Amino acid sequence: MEISFTRFRVYSECPWKYKLMFIDGKKVPLTAPSSLGLSLHRALEAFHRSRINELDNLIDCYERLWIGGGYADEEEKRRCFEKGVKILEKYFVQEQERRSQIEGIEREFIYPLGAHTVRGMIDRMDTLPDGSIEIIDYKTQLDAAMDPAIDRNLQLRFYGLGVRESLGVKPALLTIHYLASGKRDSIPYDDSGEDDLKRRIERAADRIDAGDFTPDTAFCPRCEFRAICAHSVAKK
Ligand code: SF4
Repeated sequence: MEISFTRFRVYSECPWKYKLMFIDGKKVPLTAPSSLGLSLHRALEAFHRSRINELDNLIDCYERLWIGGGYADEEEKRRCFEKGVKILEKYFVQEQERRSQIEGIEREFIYPLGAHTVRGMIDRMDTLPDGSIEIIDYKTQLDAAMDPAIDRNLQLRFYGLGVRESLGVKPALLTIHYLASGKRDSIPYDDSGEDDLKRRIERAADRIDAGDFTPDTAFCPRCEFRAICAHSVAKK
């Protein structure tokens, strides 16, 4: 089977959630934060691909690719749109100070792992002035406190391993760029956990392949399907 980070993460949260999403086709509904996050990601991708380094172009990309769904009403939609403009203005200023070279935007990696294929998409990959590689993931949360460290590192390690396996390059830095606050949180890439991570990904893919979707109710209080799931122990 083909396994991405999202599939791996969802299966690790709860195998039954994986079944609901990827077998039964249930969608996690858009919310104001997730909708704004998608709009910002789309705008940044289009902006960097265009290679027109002007703020007007960035805002134009945002307006063009704005997603209007997920908001409670027009007032919330308007407030979030304006918040997005401010986030992008700050991003543009920060971007002018960076000395790195963009190597890839929405860069895909793919590599074989046992009987499976691992595939992923990296928001951004830069070459730093010393020639080393930095992998960057954009987050729209306000700051690191809202994003559990374990998830952050797992996602970045998944991407780091993907670059290493598919491009044969060892990244030097793994970075989360918190768009709303402008903060960047970087860790050096540590390859000592690669074998362990590969085993975890392969084991998840094996279990998915075997149709093992045994619910893990420890995740229920944070699960988007808790109100409708037959196995939920946290209906509210
Ligand atoms: S509500 Fe609980 S059992 Fe159901 S999918 Fe979510 S985490 Fe799994």
